[in-house]
Amino acid sequence: MVDIQKILSRLKINEVNPAYSTGSVWGEVNSPNAHTIYSPVDGKAIGKVNMAIGDDYNKAVDQAQQSFTAWRAVPAPRRGEIVRQVGNALREAKDDLGALVSYEMGKSLQEGLGEVQEMIDICDFAVGQSRQLYGLTMQSERPLHRMYEQYHPLGVVGIISAFNFPVAVWSWNAMLALVCGNTCVWKPSEKTPLTAVACQHIISKVFTANDIPEGVCCLVIGDREVGSLMANDPRVALVSATGSTRMGKAVATAVAARLGKVLLELGGNNAIIITPDANLEMALIGTVFGAVGTAGQRCTSTRRLIIHSSVYNDFKQKLVNAYKQIRIGNPLDSNNHMGPLIDTDAVKNYLDAIEKCKAEGGNFVVEGGVLEGEGYASGCYVRPCIAEVENSYAIVQHETFAPILYLIKYDTLDKAIALQNGVPQGLSSAIMTNNLREAELFLSGAGSDCGIANVNIGTSGAEIGGAFGGEKETGGGRESGSDAWKAYMRRQTNTINYSTQLPLAQGIKFDF
Ligand code: NAD
Repeated sequence: MVDIQKILSRLKINEVNPAYSTGSVWGEVNSPNAHTIYSPVDGKAIGKVNMAIGDDYNKAVDQAQQSFTAWRAVPAPRRGEIVRQVGNALREAKDDLGALVSYEMGKSLQEGLGEVQEMIDICDFAVGQSRQLYGLTMQSERPLHRMYEQYHPLGVVGIISAFNFPVAVWSWNAMLALVCGNTCVWKPSEKTPLTAVACQHIISKVFTANDIPEGVCCLVIGDREVGSLMANDPRVALVSATGSTRMGKAVATAVAARLGKVLLELGGNNAIIITPDANLEMALIGTVFGAVGTAGQRCTSTRRLIIHSSVYNDFKQKLVNAYKQIRIGNPLDSNNHMGPLIDTDAVKNYLDAIEKCKAEGGNFVVEGGVLEGEGYASGCYVRPCIAEVENSYAIVQHETFAPILYLIKYDTLDKAIALQNGVPQGLSSAIMTNNLREAELFLSGAGSDCGIANVNIGTSGAEIGGAFGGEKETGGGRESGSDAWKAYMRRQTNTINYSTQLPLAQGIKFDF
């Protein structure tokens, strides 16, 4: 088992961490606002952070704004070179940072390490991207004219992140924003600020070694009030916010009121369709990992299974048997499949959802409940459960951030797709089938309405190379791979006249 105290010391997580950092320079300790962070793993205090107030926030954004002029002047491939060094620093810190992610958030050690690997991968991706911030050249309708477009950085990018991916989501945004020439201010979740402190130490060491101004990557630790300051702040050109749909609506409204830019990555309500032609063994692995992994606390967690009536009973029985083998306990122990929920509020939401499901008529084929006794002292360990439901239940339409899996029966593929799309969210979706026609229909314009649609893969576990995000109440944002970098830049169309005349577009005559 890992030695957490040694890890905290190597990652420079002292007992009290300041409220903000503008690089290697940390804000003053502001003790009245000190906030203790407890691990959901064992309920023990890990450390303390000072929560930022308006002044702290303003200092960080001021620094980010001032540093922008110098940072945007650094050639993009050179910015990429610095991000490459960040990737290497993360490689060195991977074991420690992955373990801290696991201890502070509660996901399994394997998933904590996987999250840091995702950060390394996006650094590598961003290095390549730094040489590919391409615009198009268009044909001008006027003689001896050249028309092209180029991309410029936006300015300060504000990053609001959720507790469940405490470091990866920041890096998806920050690494691309940085190679694009922006400066960043990160407000991590108030539930997982210590991993953010660790990241800030790692990145600022690289930046200092390269003589990069302090404010290029800032960190502000605070609650939703600080997030709200960011959403309302005209100095922040883009607010990239990851979290609940409730939060996204508040942020989107505030940013829209000042006509700023927003990138939203919000809640999901993801389904897998299990067809008669599915390989049921593959479907089982995809489903159980999707529903139980991260204790059901991924935006892409599998929440609904839409199963063909001909395989319904068989697959249900396979699931019930598989759930009997799930080992729940300390996520740092690699024998366990599932760790705790983030806190006791999350446990309450889980219990409320089970009650609501039963009240609407849900039939639990695997019962839930809170685990007690040795190893479960934090009060955050729950049993993953399975209920037979109708898609129309209010609780099924809602994203409960816990390991509750809903089973729904279907007869025709059209009906299955309608059920899959019949929720307010639109993040991830999957079909398990060896039938080409069914797979292609699911992927067609008449198929899944989600940002992510998979065939013979579950709903969770995306690679960084694709654009990540979803439609409807998931917010419409795209992060990470493909051309997601464009969200962090402004496009400019340039037309150059190298003739000795001034012809107007559309042949308009304006002689005088
Ligand atoms: P949350 O909405 O409670 O908090 C997320 C972040 O938003 C935190 O930093 C919080 O301080 C901040 N915040 C909350 N209210 C705010 C407001 N009114 N104004 C500004 N900032 C505010 O979410 P959570 O519980 O930390 O995370 C779980 C949610 O995040 C789930 O809904 C999950 O699906 C979603 N999520 C989505 C993605 C994605 O990529 N689509 C990824 C991870 C998590």
